[in-house]
Amino acid sequence: MSTGMSVESVVQAVYLVAGVLFVLSLAGLSRQETARRGVLLGMCGMVLALAATVALALVRSERPVGVTAGLILLVLLVGAAVGTWRARTVEMTQMPELIALLHSFVGAAAVLVGFGSYLTEPATPGAGGTVHLVEVFLGVLIGAVTLTGSVVAFGKLSARLRSSPLLLPGRNWLNLAAVVACGGLLWWFLTAPAVGLVPLLLMTLVALALGWHLVAAIGGGDMPVVVSMLNSYSGWAAAAAGFMLGNDLLIITGALVGSSGAILSYLMCRAMNRSFVSVILGGFGAETGAAAPGGPVEPGTYRETTALEVADRLTAARSVIVVPGYGMAVAKAQYPVADLVARLTARGTTVRFGIHPVAGRLPGHMNVLLAEAKVPYDQVLGMDEINGDFPATDVVLVIGANDTVNPAAQDDPGSPIAGMPVLEVWQAQEVVVFKRSMATGYAGVQNPLFFRENTAMLFGDAKEQVELIVQAL
Ligand code: NDP
Repeated sequence: MSTGMSVESVVQAVYLVAGVLFVLSLAGLSRQETARRGVLLGMCGMVLALAATVALALVRSERPVGVTAGLILLVLLVGAAVGTWRARTVEMTQMPELIALLHSFVGAAAVLVGFGSYLTEPATPGAGGTVHLVEVFLGVLIGAVTLTGSVVAFGKLSARLRSSPLLLPGRNWLNLAAVVACGGLLWWFLTAPAVGLVPLLLMTLVALALGWHLVAAIGGGDMPVVVSMLNSYSGWAAAAAGFMLGNDLLIITGALVGSSGAILSYLMCRAMNRSFVSVILGGFGAETGAAAPGGPVEPGTYRETTALEVADRLTAARSVIVVPGYGMAVAKAQYPVADLVARLTARGTTVRFGIHPVAGRLPGHMNVLLAEAKVPYDQVLGMDEINGDFPATDVVLVIGANDTVNPAAQDDPGSPIAGMPVLEVWQAQEVVVFKRSMATGYAGVQNPLFFRENTAMLFGDAKEQVELIVQAL
């Protein structure tokens, strides 16, 4: 008993240290320069947390300690093997879908912990018991919504499901009805302890359907917000599991993930000029899903250019801004792009990168790619920092970006992306757009930028074209 007690107090102390490490980790992740340290601190925190939790499980084990240790080791090995394999093989472009899938695991875990906790610790309504029952109910509810919502997000991001929104008639009423039904089931769950499993199971079914429908109704350009919103839900699901298990560290970690996900969702909504509520209610991108790709919004002609011509223009330019987007990630063009920029900088040309907050397929996507290619941080500027500089810029290289440089967001109130802040590349003297065809970007809307007089299209794979320019220089 006394070893049990002392191990438990050591575990609590270790949990506290791990919690502090997680907070420091998040603080580190907020800036590129300190991100690596942030990741390391988070890893240390997680190792401590796992070690302490395993120690606690062994002390509390009702089976022979060897059996418990063996079981834990087995799942750790399977998890670590699968995790290592996925982390090594995943392409940067598949990262958002992998994250969505991982969120679904957190949701599933919360549901399982909820049922496990309900079945093994039967609490009867009354003071402490009621609190526990509410924890179980909410944990399963949030977990189930997260589970199916994340599976749908995974399906949409990996193109296994259509990315256009599912628009059922009266869809907001359906969601409201699901929430009201869950409220009723909670009341039943709390007042009829003898049949508690029935309302719990019914609520799980309703919540699974709600999660599915909520995310199915969201389409096109709103997916980034959905992924970060599900990140937030998965945090709250973990925190709920922490309450059920009486594990303080899980509560702290869940709350950190839940609130940072919510803050990120808010910031992304602001970057796309969308209200959070309208994102949650879905339906955005309906027109975009149905739009014929390439259907000209602005009938007109576009001008084609060649790598040689672009090299000539760059040689003469004094100031250049590179605007990367999802296509740079697809082409893995960040290395030749970094090489090109280094050469131009060495010649005395002012070269900077302009990064849109939702360029690519996950927040910070472009920053990660450029850091990977060792581009100096001070050359990488955010949208607000660089938008005023385009009029004084000679050449803008738009490398695989499309929606994030679409002037229709400002000029066409009827456009599905109207109001989304964009990089005003068209203000520069000349714009070169690197892409493979006249196809639309993620939101499925045509881009009038391509038909402007000062825009030239450089068709082909971005990596190959940039390499040709580097050779020509
Ligand atoms: P877009 O997705 O709008 O466009 C990418 C462009 O890259 C396409 O026009 C495509 O044209 C081109 N491209 C693809 N492959 C290549 C290649 N190998 N070589 C050259 N070009 C290529 O990109 P943006 O980054 O501008 O916009 C991001 C969009 O994604 C926004 O709508 C945003 O809301 C959404 N989104 C953002 C997330 C985030 O968190 N950042 C997450 C999910 C969605 P072509 O096919 O003709 O080559």
